[in-house]
Amino acid sequence: MFTAFLIKYAEIGVKGKNRYLFEDMLVHQMKLALKKCDGQFLIHKSQGRIFVEAQGEFDFEEAVERLKKVFGISGICPVVYAEDEGFGKLAERIVAYVDEVYPDKHKTFKVHSRRARKDYPKESMEINADLGEAVLNAYPEMTVDVHSPEILLNVEIREKIYIYSEIIPGPGGMPVGTGGKAMLLLSGGIDSPVAGYMIAKRGVKLDAVYFHAPPYTSERAKQKVVDLARIVAGYAGPVWLHVINFTDIQLYIHEKCPHEELTIIMRRYMMRIAEEIAKETDCLGLITGESIGQVASQTMQSLVATNEVCSLPVYRPLIGFDKQEIVEVAEKIGTFETSILPYEDCCTIFVAKHPVTKPNLNVIRRHEHNLDEGIEELVRIALETKELIVVEA
Ligand code: ATP
Ligand code: MG
Repeated sequence: MFTAFLIKYAEIGVKGKNRYLFEDMLVHQMKLALKKCDGQFLIHKSQGRIFVEAQGEFDFEEAVERLKKVFGISGICPVVYAEDEGFGKLAERIVAYVDEVYPDKHKTFKVHSRRARKDYPKESMEINADLGEAVLNAYPEMTVDVHSPEILLNVEIREKIYIYSEIIPGPGGMPVGTGGKAMLLLSGGIDSPVAGYMIAKRGVKLDAVYFHAPPYTSERAKQKVVDLARIVAGYAGPVWLHVINFTDIQLYIHEKCPHEELTIIMRRYMMRIAEEIAKETDCLGLITGESIGQVASQTMQSLVATNEVCSLPVYRPLIGFDKQEIVEVAEKIGTFETSILPYEDCCTIFVAKHPVTKPNLNVIRRHEHNLDEGIEELVRIALETKELIVVEA
């Protein structure tokens, strides 16, 4: 029955002169999202609104699922079009609409009409009253509530007449592409995909880097990261995933540095390498899934040590989240099931029994000097042999 959607967007409505840039990017992202959907769609802006019109047959559920992942959308309203064939016909159409959409009639409602076309013979107030009366006559169980109705029947009179009442919540946020690009350090864990989602939600496009350590980490562990990147790409658009072979660097650190400092020093190299790639690819920041105190390498002291090696800002959107809160987002966005698959993580392979939780920066720096002889060469090789996988949803 529905042939179109009216798209509501909250935050981007307040951007003054830049508003059209945001709207255009939103339209662009919606087009990308619907491209893989069954059916053809026309997306257009009209009087401060965005409409998606299906051109013929389409899969309603699939279209809604895709639009629910487009950042910048606050609500998706399925719309029915009616031709203007006189007020009597419109009243019949509204009565039929209520019947189709609300099988249970024990509801309060209100009609809210807008005349975008001033030559329509009735004024809004009169339309509201007359359509309300038609609904009440058809369904005496229904009652009018002008303050907080359960059903707000919107009727917009344009060339055609648009009828809608349901609002399916969108993800909110800003359209991807309005906020530059950042490099996500993506592991196979629960946290980093959520961190990427949260920054993408603010309009930031994502690239990603994954450090793997074959043969200590398997092909399957890498595939899991690709799968996570694909789920994140469902929201963020195509993700360029850079895969770095980290084995020799890890072994070298293991050989030369105290074992309880291994994780911290390794994380410093991850950040350095991520930043190198970030700068080459025009990323304006790094993103990690760190949260204060979650593990030894995420205490305030440890964060000082990992942060020190980067000059780009490091975005840590989960910094104040408890694990349970992170899990809730992971479940909502659909990454959780993949994240908990039991494949080894390159971080955990060489982990000491008692890693330092309050690393001293001077000590860490001094021990890092043990690596001076060979590390530059190893980093260079790691960068030269990196693999690029373009991941699309
Ligand atoms: P996650 O669930 O995201 O793996 P974690 O709790 O396992 O996080 P750490 O292993 O300390 O935490 O990693 C902290 C952050 O460092 C991760 O959130 C991620 O951004 C990054 N990171 C860790 N391991 C890797 C890796 N192998 N490749 C890329 N990034 C990584
Ligand atoms: Mg991890």
